[in-house]
Amino acid sequence: MIGISWRREQGLADPLLRNMLAEKGLDDVPQWTKEDDVRMEAHDRWMALAEDRDGPVNPEICEITDPAHITDEIKSKALELGADLAGCCALTPIMIDEGFDMPHRNVISFIVHEEYANVLKGARAIEAETYAVYVRVAQIATELAAFVRDLGYPAWAHHNGIRQIQAIPTLYHSGFGELGRHGSLINTTYSANFRPGFVTTNVPLQYDSPLEFGVQDYCEKCKLCRNNCPGDAIATDHILTDGIKRWRINMEKCYPYSRLHEAYCHICVDVCPYLHKENGDPEKRTMYGAYMKQRKEDGYRSPNRL
Ligand code: SF4
Ligand code: SF4
Repeated sequence: MIGISWRREQGLADPLLRNMLAEKGLDDVPQWTKEDDVRMEAHDRWMALAEDRDGPVNPEICEITDPAHITDEIKSKALELGADLAGCCALTPIMIDEGFDMPHRNVISFIVHEEYANVLKGARAIEAETYAVYVRVAQIATELAAFVRDLGYPAWAHHNGIRQIQAIPTLYHSGFGELGRHGSLINTTYSANFRPGFVTTNVPLQYDSPLEFGVQDYCEKCKLCRNNCPGDAIATDHILTDGIKRWRINMEKCYPYSRLHEAYCHICVDVCPYLHKENGDPEKRTMYGAYMKQRKEDGYRSPNRL
């Protein structure tokens, strides 16, 4: 199956980022080269795991008469390895990078949450948590793929170190939630405070279905991410992709804060009220209230105070 979804080049391979650096006379990305940067160590760890994304497949194939049973086993393994939620669906070309020839027909998705409490500790704490979660995702994907290969089926891990899977359509079709205005998927339990990993395989699975619970209608009225974005990068009006609402993020406006600014920018996700107002968790609601009070005191869209 050949993929059809465009992926932005990563790091300095991204032409937009290179042009913006050149315009500002910068050789490298301030977000990634600042003192005490936590990214490089995490980056080395997920890149090292990329070498283990594939491996020998057990020649003794586990005969599967009940896909529901093996699906439960694989999901349980993902949770045992440290994932918070797991789901699966059949792969379609939109879930795969443009031009990539994917030899597998199914995908197992999982997510690992980021602790929301970090919003009250500042950008450095949010950044450290994000990269620690990315490493955990790479470890879980690598071990889960090995578990599936041990059942006698080919399987590849997909994470920051190596991936050909597009997160949003894959998570949506695996029942994790709906796309929010800020460009991330909103889940009923973790909102958008999570990072995903994937394992592609040919093991027969019982598929999950999309889970729609009103996020996209909510986003039409809410706009908090848009109003708090320091770069004014989040669209007011939506477009439709495959019948699903999508609000464009203007990367030329986002990069000055998410790449060219030393402080890590995760504001669009952290101000999202969906989880904190809607699920009634009193602890998170209190944290959210304190964080938003802090943001109001600092002023919305106030990059100098980020
Ligand atoms: S990462 Fe920051 S600058 Fe980029 S869209 Fe989100 S809030 Fe705006
Ligand atoms: S902040 Fe509001 S508009 Fe933005 S994604 Fe969350 S719910 Fe939707």
